[in-house]
Amino acid sequence: MLRHEVVVVGAGLAGQRAALAAVEAGRDVAIVTKLHPLRSHSGAAQGGINAAVGAEDSVDTHIYDTVKGSDYLGDQDAIEFFCREAGPIVVEMEHFGTIFSRSPDGSLARRPFGGAGFPRTIYAADRTGLALLQALWERLGTERFTLYPEWDLIRIVVRDGRVQGIIAYDRKRGEFEEIAAKSVVIATGPAGRLYSRTTNAHSCTGDGVAVAYDAGAFLKDMEFVQFHPTALLETSILITEGARGEGGILKNASGERFMSRYAPHVLELASRDVVSRAIVTEVADGRGFTGPYGGYVHLELMHLGKEKVESRLQEICDFCRHFAGIDPVTEPIPVYPAQHYMMGGVGTNIRGETNIPGLFAAGEAACVSIHGANRLGGNSLLETLVFGREAGAAAAQYAVGASATTMRATDLDEAARPIRGWSSRSEGEDPSALRTEMQETMERYAGIYRNEADLLEGLRRIRALRSRFDRVRVVDASKVYNLNLTDAVEVGHMLELAEVILVGAYARTESRGAHARTDFPKRDDQKWMKHTLAQKTSTGPNLSYAPVAYTRWEPKERVY
Ligand SMILES: Cc1cc2nc3c(=O)[nH]c(=O)nc-3n(C[C@H](O)[C@H](O)[C@H](O)COP(=O)(O)OP(=O)(O)OC[C@H]3O[C@@H](n4cnc5c(N)ncnc54)[C@H](O)[C@@H]3O)c2cc1C
Repeated sequence: MLRHEVVVVGAGLAGQRAALAAVEAGRDVAIVTKLHPLRSHSGAAQGGINAAVGAEDSVDTHIYDTVKGSDYLGDQDAIEFFCREAGPIVVEMEHFGTIFSRSPDGSLARRPFGGAGFPRTIYAADRTGLALLQALWERLGTERFTLYPEWDLIRIVVRDGRVQGIIAYDRKRGEFEEIAAKSVVIATGPAGRLYSRTTNAHSCTGDGVAVAYDAGAFLKDMEFVQFHPTALLETSILITEGARGEGGILKNASGERFMSRYAPHVLELASRDVVSRAIVTEVADGRGFTGPYGGYVHLELMHLGKEKVESRLQEICDFCRHFAGIDPVTEPIPVYPAQHYMMGGVGTNIRGETNIPGLFAAGEAACVSIHGANRLGGNSLLETLVFGREAGAAAAQYAVGASATTMRATDLDEAARPIRGWSSRSEGEDPSALRTEMQETMERYAGIYRNEADLLEGLRRIRALRSRFDRVRVVDASKVYNLNLTDAVEVGHMLELAEVILVGAYARTESRGAHARTDFPKRDDQKWMKHTLAQKTSTGPNLSYAPVAYTRWEPKERVY
């Protein structure tokens, strides 16, 4: 049996930062990851990372913007900690070798982002995530930890009230393996593939969140799903908020700059939930463009000039030219909102601790909560670093004090048996068909605008898909890189999370941040100023609620 003190699952920015903290604390660390570390979705991040650096900006404004952006559901103690750590951790990344874009005077260049009172988004052109990921990977150094690449987390073993280790599946050999561990950090990233329109990579299937839920962890605020306003029509490739930060404007089919009706003060730079709803409303009310891929609006960059567009938004130019056959220097970009980020995740405190001793979480898979009901652009890359480091340090500390773990031979069998069973069926459900139906259901019934009837219908459909999943069949019998099998595992995870999202969204009879109920259009602080917690039971998610932490900011109406 394999054995390590700290096992980090996921090698994106959160997982790597956690591993670095645990390595630096002198622990024996392993990283288990289903992708090569540098292929993690963090590498796709374009626009930038927030930090109040320089004399004109202040940490307090960053805190206030984040609290307001969260629609007062973010925990203010966590947000204060988060924003204070921002400057030092971004500068640390620069010292690790991240090549950020510069202002003419040589200081770190910053661009305006949605919902921010000051231009505080530091960037490396429109490849910020990749620049950070590469620098962190070099810093971590492969000789200081053990890497299990292309291994999938299948189960977290919890016994005697604490984590004992994990069961993983090695894609290359087609074998299940057990790894005993005193502490486990879940850093498995996004779950955007629950939706048919998403900016997230195909690998973003919420695995770690579902596995932690299965092990008894509380999931927090899962009903809050962020849609990014500007995804390229048809492919849903992200057009970074940096495009609007650099001065891009949105227009409807009559050529009207419609954001003036929704956010008169900051227009296109309102927070994402506000801009997404504006676009959906324009299209629904017949003021958008129509085409074979549905309604859309235009994002215009033409007035910014060739030099600026091509230097600050290089990747955006490539995406538009290669995937839409248009040149953003001379033509408008057709855009429509797509799922982008999960505010919810495995519930943790500031140290990344969950309700299960020895289990930690960080990054997009976790919910601390700093984003509350709506995340601000540029705060997620920052979250991976700040809370990745905290979770890694806490996991290392826990491992020092914890007694030896006890894995049993039956642990592996219990996790592997049902999955092996999928391959021995002579008939059954095709996982890819279930996935498509799930994505369409979530898009249609749990999207940007929600109401009771839709959420109930969505739940009915997801539960029907879950019972069909009990008869899932893996047709491919090969052991080497059996993607049919890993697809089925991922679909099972996503169906589990879909149910949690729908149950939480149905229960929350108010509109707050990204959760917009047409039947309850107002925020209801009296009743709903609280976090949703979901715990798994044999009959579905059991909901309970936890208070929001306040420090200095009284809830106000949120206007931009
Ligand atoms: C297109 C795009 C652009 C973005 N731009 C920005 C931006 O400009 N600024 C910003 O702040 N945020 C941005 N975000 C959000 C931000 O990039 C992510 O929230 C963040 O990078 C997530 O990091 P992570 O480390 O939590 O997860 P990831 O980087 O996704 O890493 C997840 C890791 O988990 C591993 N994993 C997953 N499942 C398993 C499993 N079952 N077993 C083993 N390993 C597993 C994967 O292999 C991977 O290594 C963007 C997101 C997208 C999709």
